[in-house]
Amino acid sequence: MKILNFIGGEYSGARSGKFLNNTNPATGEAMGELPDSDAVDVVMAIQAAHRAAEKWAKTPSAERSRLLNLIADRIEQRADEFAKLEALDVGKPKWLAREVDVPRAILNFRFFAAKILTEETGGFDSDGALVQYSLRQPVGVCGLISPWNLPLYLLTWKLAPCLAMGNAAVCKPSELTPLTAHLLSEIVSDILPPGVCNIVYGRGETAGAALVQHPGVPLISFTGGTDTGIKITQSSAPQLKKLSLELGGKNANIVCKDADLSAAVKGSIRAAFLNSGQICLCGSRLYVQEDIYDSFMKEFREQTAALKIGDPMADDTFIGPLVNGQQREKSLAAIQQATREGAKVTVGGRVPETLPQQLRGGFYLEPTVIEDLDHCSDLWANEIFGPIVTVQTFKLPQDAIKWANTSTYGLSASVWTRDVSRAHKMAREIQAGTVWVNTWAKRDPRVPFGGVKHSGIGREGGDHSLDFYSELKTVCLAT
Ligand code: NDP
Repeated sequence: MKILNFIGGEYSGARSGKFLNNTNPATGEAMGELPDSDAVDVVMAIQAAHRAAEKWAKTPSAERSRLLNLIADRIEQRADEFAKLEALDVGKPKWLAREVDVPRAILNFRFFAAKILTEETGGFDSDGALVQYSLRQPVGVCGLISPWNLPLYLLTWKLAPCLAMGNAAVCKPSELTPLTAHLLSEIVSDILPPGVCNIVYGRGETAGAALVQHPGVPLISFTGGTDTGIKITQSSAPQLKKLSLELGGKNANIVCKDADLSAAVKGSIRAAFLNSGQICLCGSRLYVQEDIYDSFMKEFREQTAALKIGDPMADDTFIGPLVNGQQREKSLAAIQQATREGAKVTVGGRVPETLPQQLRGGFYLEPTVIEDLDHCSDLWANEIFGPIVTVQTFKLPQDAIKWANTSTYGLSASVWTRDVSRAHKMAREIQAGTVWVNTWAKRDPRVPFGGVKHSGIGREGGDHSLDFYSELKTVCLAT
């Protein structure tokens, strides 16, 4: 498939004529091309967005809401196509895209379509002397930069509230996963006025950086790695842009001795290996209370070893390929380093050898469990973003809290326990944007979402998204 930029309602290649290859991670074969856009293309998209922004900002919220619902309807009608493309691009199982990513994309549009119809801003009477009220106004043209691991979910998580609040958008999806953004552009091209939503494909350091640095884009919503987030903060700082940064995680998954063991094993496996461990929220640091370590780990190892690796399109696949060769190399290097440091690889750790011929060129890696890792190892500290979980014991809950907080990251954590007061205490003390108790990765679109420490700045979700994608103005009248 040949993807084209979507600018001002029209499709075009990069002005330079350059394209990048899009590779199928399940086979390692080229499956299409996307524009290798640079600053020239990005500026064209920003100009198109500016031409459309004023009229869109003045479009009544009921009409904006109607159009967003229409986008949701069309995604729903083509849900299977979306799931297939997401699986093809990312390598995630198609059933997962069908169960999670696509329904979430639909919900993102429906949720913010509804939200703007009930939204209220405050009014204040200052003892009869002054009347003050707030106006919520669009920010203007917003830059939306999304990563490859949840391409549709995260693009729509940004785009829906951005458009709902009356802004125009320039989106920059990851160069690794352009397919569902392209399908979305087909849908919005029929529904939104030209220029309200623009999509520019290309490399982060060229197209992404041009978007961040352009003075005509006062807001950047970025989801991606912490290093990139730091670069974006630095390069946008001279212009004091509005920034939301949803960054990496090295999340603790804590199993206490009073947990429901069967639920904890099942939940911890999903937390460690869903999407081949390529979710920012993955519980890649597993902490198990020493009293139950043997019984818990026996089940955990057995069930991990039984996870089906294979074709993302097959219904029984749990572990698809990693997104590219680079991610696999990074994961393999981390496993080798852990082994050199004396850790034990108790499950997996290798490139699978029994895959069918057509998948041999894909970027597969066995789900891997690493135990007895040295406390000083980099593997505790660094996000790998592969199907790897490290496991450590703890004696008392406060020890687990200490380990959970011994990280530069603070995106999320999970605690498995039947003791309600312990759950509350641990949730309060863990330094993370979200703490799950007896579950993982569940998230209502109304709740605040974001990270602390190196996992990000700002919150999105519900009213927080409305706040981020708008400017609140106070009007003060003397009576
Ligand atoms: P990257 O930071 O490499 O890239 C994210 C996006 O930014 C891509 O579109 C990328 O383009 C673009 N980009 C890269 N460099 C720049 C730059 N200098 N200026 C502007 N844009 C740039 O992250 P990944 O795509 O590798 O995604 C994985 C990371 O995302 C992990 O660290 C993960 O934890 C994090 N993440 C965080 C989430 C959260 O909610 N906190 C959710 C999901 C993922 P291109 O790909 O074309 O280079």
